[in-house]
Amino acid sequence: MDVIKRFRAAPGKKVDLKDWDPDETLGMDRGDAEARLADNAQAIGKLQHRLFAEGKRSLLVVLQAMDAAGKDSTVRHVLRDVNPQGVLVTSFKKPTSHELARDFLWRIHRRTPRKGHIRVFNRSHYEDVLVVRVESIVPKSVWEKRYRAINDFERTISESGTEIIKIYLNISKDRQREKLMRRLTDPDRAWKFEAADFETRRKWDQYMNAYEDAITECNTDSAPWFIVPTNKKWFRLFVISQIIRDTLERMDPQLPPLKIEPAVAMRLLEDGVD
Ligand code: ATP
Ligand code: MG
Repeated sequence: MDVIKRFRAAPGKKVDLKDWDPDETLGMDRGDAEARLADNAQAIGKLQHRLFAEGKRSLLVVLQAMDAAGKDSTVRHVLRDVNPQGVLVTSFKKPTSHELARDFLWRIHRRTPRKGHIRVFNRSHYEDVLVVRVESIVPKSVWEKRYRAINDFERTISESGTEIIKIYLNISKDRQREKLMRRLTDPDRAWKFEAADFETRRKWDQYMNAYEDAITECNTDSAPWFIVPTNKKWFRLFVISQIIRDTLERMDPQLPPLKIEPAVAMRLLEDGVD
């Protein structure tokens, strides 16, 4: 099964989220998906090691979703076997006054991955055409120009060696209710809960429209969007780990050539013995 193809939004085609089933599991069972996740997580760890050694390219994973869809747990599970030195996660919150004093991409560009690294954006520049649009934080004349700015920006970083994967965690409104409820009743999760979560939930349809436009307008071959069924956690983790693994395998990072002949190194080591 080619997961990358199955969940890639078709470029040039208007996205309708009603065509994407958040409960999809492709007939897989949980045990199978968990075994595949474990295997993918290890493979991602090994591939990142090579990416770091090569030191020429990087990977940016953008995660976007409605509240409580599971962005945090995705990062925790999918990247659990990556050397912590090789991966950075940035969560984008409401911009500070310092950030608002610049263009909307300023805070984003400063956090793109350095060569050899994987960087995850937990929310991203897409908030500037999602929440900003739905909440009318800026007028339409401003946000509608941002799709082009985003495409230009993503092309720029892609041309300088950053592979980009953008993932929309597609949760249903009913499933979100269950997860928000769990947040409310589980003491380990309740602290995450805020009134704003209700506000965004109330505007669900407007958010879906904004997501459909963002995915449609900014879905290029160098920065593709994936729409991942998210109601079943185990399936979401399997799919996202597979997309990241396949992307890294396609990049095929290479260990650099040896800096010293092994025989020479051996002689130097032996010289040091006495
Ligand atoms: P969780 O799912 O755990 O609640 P979160 O990603 O929602 O995590 P929060 O701290 O709850 O994290 O929320 C961050 C908030 O910042 C979101 O409501 C998001 O819409 C908002 N935000 C991010 N970027 C922007 C932006 N450019 N303009 C306005 N609001 C933004
Ligand atoms: Mg939140």
